[in-house]
Amino acid sequence: MDDRQFRNAMGKFATGVNVIATETDGEAYGMTANAFMSVSLDPKLIVISIGHQAKMLERIRQSGKFSVNVLSCEQQDVSMIFAGQKKTEEKFEFERLGDTPVVKDALCQLSCEVYNEHVEGDHVLFIGKVNDMTLADGDPLIFNCGKYRRLEEFAEAVQ
Ligand code: FAD
Ligand code: NAD
Repeated sequence: MDDRQFRNAMGKFATGVNVIATETDGEAYGMTANAFMSVSLDPKLIVISIGHQAKMLERIRQSGKFSVNVLSCEQQDVSMIFAGQKKTEEKFEFERLGDTPVVKDALCQLSCEVYNEHVEGDHVLFIGKVNDMTLADGDPLIFNCGKYRRLEEFAEAVQ
């Protein structure tokens, strides 16, 4: 089984798109991530998975905190910036939720502290304890088969 075949298989599982953000030495950084899951209600835990080559890995280890920002369908450009798919010279303007940088207009902003860390293959799973959150209305940005999609495309397809 080659890597492309495995990625094609994983891409069949449609997901939302998040930006993970953290701050080290007074600088805020973001990274696009779709590997995310709710883990526990009591306590409130989530999991993210960060590749061993991503700069975000050591940044989260250093800060011990991160935010998860669920992007709306209007925020594909934000996803592309934080996946390195769209170059920008401008510094992204983060908002703050408590002491954590968060993405303005995200459908959901979760402020988390690192609760546990598991090294698994070439990724690190961070379990985050959710300390604060905001919610907003809107449709999510979707990632499916390696492409950004919108819910309205699927609604049109079933009519
Ligand atoms: P960098 O490469 O330093 O940062 C990423 C990009 O964000 C750079 O272009 C940088 O210039 C920009 N950036 C960061 N902070 C700022 C700022 N303050 N202002 C302006 N620009 C800034 N990888 C995973 O490990 N796990 C996943 O779950 C995952 N899911 C993904 C889902 C999708 C849909 C896509 C497209 C990619 C996903 N990736 C995932 C890949 C990951 O987003 C990229 O490998 C990313 O480039 C890794 O970033 P980095 O932490 O190495 O940091
Ligand atoms: P793709 O076809 O590579 O992604 C399809 C699916 O494969 C993703 O949703 C994810 O579930 C899985 N996947 C992709 N790369 C992976 C990796 N390195 N480790 C574990 N699972 C992975 O989509 P694309 O448009 O070619 O992706 C753009 C870039 O973002 C690629 O460089 C890809 O590696 C990266 N990406 C990484 C992850 C991740 O590390 N978990 C997830 C999604 C995308």
